[in-house]
Amino acid sequence: MGRKRRYLDEGTVLVAGKCMKLAWYRVHRPGRGGGNAAARLGRRHKRDVTVLVRALFPGGRRIVERNIVRARRSTRKALCAGKTVLFRPAFLHDGVAIRPDILERRSDGAWNVWAVKASSGAERHFQGLAVEVHILRNLGFRVVPGVIHLDRNATVRSASILKRTVCARQVERLLPEIGSRIRELKRRVRIDYPRPFPLKRICGRCERLHRCRPDLPERNVFLLFQGDGGWRVVDELIEREILDLDELPDEMELTHVQKRQMAAFRSGRGAVSGDPARSLAERTEYPLFFLDFETVSPAVPRYRAQHPFDIIPFQWSCHLVRGEGGPAEHFGYLHDDRDGGDPRRGVIESLLSLLGGEGTILVYSGYERRVIERMAEVHRDLARPLRALVSRIFDLHEFVEHCYYVPRFGGSFSMKSVYAALHEGRSYRDLGVSDGTAAVEAFLRLVEEKPPPEERKRIRENLIEYCKRDTATIESLYRRLMKVRAEC
Ligand code: SF4
Repeated sequence: MGRKRRYLDEGTVLVAGKCMKLAWYRVHRPGRGGGNAAARLGRRHKRDVTVLVRALFPGGRRIVERNIVRARRSTRKALCAGKTVLFRPAFLHDGVAIRPDILERRSDGAWNVWAVKASSGAERHFQGLAVEVHILRNLGFRVVPGVIHLDRNATVRSASILKRTVCARQVERLLPEIGSRIRELKRRVRIDYPRPFPLKRICGRCERLHRCRPDLPERNVFLLFQGDGGWRVVDELIEREILDLDELPDEMELTHVQKRQMAAFRSGRGAVSGDPARSLAERTEYPLFFLDFETVSPAVPRYRAQHPFDIIPFQWSCHLVRGEGGPAEHFGYLHDDRDGGDPRRGVIESLLSLLGGEGTILVYSGYERRVIERMAEVHRDLARPLRALVSRIFDLHEFVEHCYYVPRFGGSFSMKSVYAALHEGRSYRDLGVSDGTAAVEAFLRLVEEKPPPEERKRIRENLIEYCKRDTATIESLYRRLMKVRAEC
């Protein structure tokens, strides 16, 4: 467990906007820090963009201290010395500490307070700026808030990939609520342990759910599928305080997927609609290619025609079944990180040569289609064969969602849930790379940090095993669905 903080920070005030109790946890039971692979990747993007942004403010003074007391001291010194641009200055007012990304003196004597964001829009960042403006104004600064973010249409050939969006009006509207939120938060964090809060839909995705509500039944409302408008049912059940799926009222109008879920829960077996085996046999043709990509979406473009956060595939895996009842053969491609160039061409040429001109390409999301369509836009000379692949794609995820459910899916149709359902509850945890974000991290380590040969070999093997497991899972799922009528 991490150390309890003696002041509130901007992140805690933001979290309090979603849930006061979650903010309480952040103060009284902080995690160890560092976060998961997604958080680390977000920080990497932010670091890349920050380097570009700081180059726009030559002579800016960087406040490097992490400790808030020392950082405030350095900030004061820099301001007294007449510095007009400060990176990550520190301010504390009324128990709330902030570290704005950039504070820039304007010619009219006011200050621009810039949030630097590795995103292609400004809207999501107004709340954070409102907290900073609230504190700075209380300290006597006249401030104009804005966001420096990425221009989603820029490429490496653009004069700049950055955009500045001033958002004084939007932030102004948020200020009254921020003031009252901080007051309420300070009152709440003084309480030793808050009593249970009323649940909301977002609780289903909260990492603290089981700690926050240890009384939550195992088969609870958050297991209900929320797509296709299913979230309305979840909202209504929470509102009526019906949290146990075993107490679901008969009159409740469920979505089709939810009805199948409930049938599976009640019987403890798979529930099916229609005839999946027949439907699959009619809609697919041999050879069958079970395909999955791994991609990276860097914030800062590096290759031809690449936009910020553009899709860059670096790997694929494919299991091929040539005919009914035949074995699955595995093929794969992973960009050679030593070549230092653009991975896209090698990925699509190798893929085109395997997929040929006939057979169904089975995937488990809409993502593979998007990757191929984007590659067709970038590589015009290969656009025709790439678009021909798109017409052969069959999305098994969409198909399963609409016809099949087993209790082991645990309320989710993700690839990992499918794998667990097909393999006695096992997970991907035995792999060196166990999810898509970890795969991105591993690939970036290869291309940007050039690890020693032994580690490089291990990372490449981990990436190959991970992607291979995804396509093996899609193939196993297909085989299961072809037998499903006999089972249910
Ligand atoms: S489970 Fe819900 S109420 Fe509890 S901390 Fe999380 S979001 Fe807040």
